Amino acid sequence: MGTERLYYTDSGLLEFSASVTEVREGPNATHIILDRTAFYPTGGGQPNDTGSINGAAIIDVIEDEDGRIVHVAGKGAGPGPIPVAGKTVECRIDGARRLDHMQQHSGQHILSQAFVQACGAETRSFHLGAATSTIDIDLQSPTDECMRSAEEIANRVVFEDRPMRVHLVSEAEAARLPLRKESAVQGTIRVIEIDGFDWSPCGGTHASRAGQVGLIAIKGFERAKKMTRVEFVCGQRALVDYRLANDAATKVALQFSVDRESGPSSVERAIQENRSLKKRVRELLEIALREEAGRMLELAPQMQAIDKTGAPSVPFKMVTAVLPARDLEELRMLAWKIVERGPSAALLGTNDGQAAKLVFARSADLPFAMGALLGKACQALGGRGGGKPDMAQGGGPDAGKLQAVIENAATALLSK
Ligand SMILES: [Zn+2]
Repeated sequence: MGTERLYYTDSGLLEFSASVTEVREGPNATHIILDRTAFYPTGGGQPNDTGSINGAAIIDVIEDEDGRIVHVAGKGAGPGPIPVAGKTVECRIDGARRLDHMQQHSGQHILSQAFVQACGAETRSFHLGAATSTIDIDLQSPTDECMRSAEEIANRVVFEDRPMRVHLVSEAEAARLPLRKESAVQGTIRVIEIDGFDWSPCGGTHASRAGQVGLIAIKGFERAKKMTRVEFVCGQRALVDYRLANDAATKVALQFSVDRESGPSSVERAIQENRSLKKRVRELLEIALREEAGRMLELAPQMQAIDKTGAPSVPFKMVTAVLPARDLEELRMLAWKIVERGPSAALLGTNDGQAAKLVFARSADLPFAMGALLGKACQALGGRGGGKPDMAQGGGPDAGKLQAVIENAATALLSK
């Protein structure tokens, strides 16, 4: 026989006594079955209650296939003695958790009917999560207007503080009620009525008046599995969420010394400004690097390499430099600016304080294999690198050897 469910008729009942009918000791938990209970077991999208039985913490509540409600006490759940069959026990339910679940679950009934009225969308499933809840509604093309409209309808029901009633009816009586969805159970059906608004078969714990649900706020929506998933919070959760949202928006606005509502447009302006500044910095960098490349070429010695047959190559300028704290992209840009101005090779290095970086480049008319040359140089720095014959980059941790490594590479270039 199933357990008598006290929450069916009184969802405000948080303390009760009951008689233990069975106790099963497991390796990790003790399962306690009572003749009657106000503990709600996980089901219908709503998580279980928690609380205590004779002082032992109840960490989970489930319903078995015989309709009995199993209270799970963890090992070391003390301080109370483990209940024994036949004894009367004192039970207590965590009121804050129950109220939270009642607010979210009752809010879901209200919101589901509101979506039917706002855009003809039926609710297909409900999930009460730890932070927010979701319903999946039968809606192909969700719009902001539909969300706002449903939210308005739902909150009007809350503000009117409509009574919420529990009816236990027969199947025939249920058939005459304007139920939002069909009942999945046979025999006596429990119907939750929100006065003049919604009738739904349901076994969960609900508020007795809509006002108890508090604000119903839609946080967002997304298309999911050919339906629309709506995320929402009710009551205390809506208050917590409002504070978080208000804090975040206020902090952003403070950064710009504007009022809260002007935050988004200030952020947008700052992003635009940043974009054009980056563009301007790049333009100025191009100018500066062109100048720098010109100066380096003027100071660079004229060289002539000898190839394997002993024949001299084209005369070219050899630019070698160790520059303080440049980023690799800037070093590459500088190397290009040097070698694009005529026959030249650029062996550039920089040290960012943690590692050495190298860029080797040469103009198109020279025969040197800079990739191979750079690979050896990076090895000497304890690192790696490579690239094409005309442009290569890399680096290594032994930044102290940077000057020597570049000098060696320059010598190697000339002695082929
Ligand atoms: Zn319900």
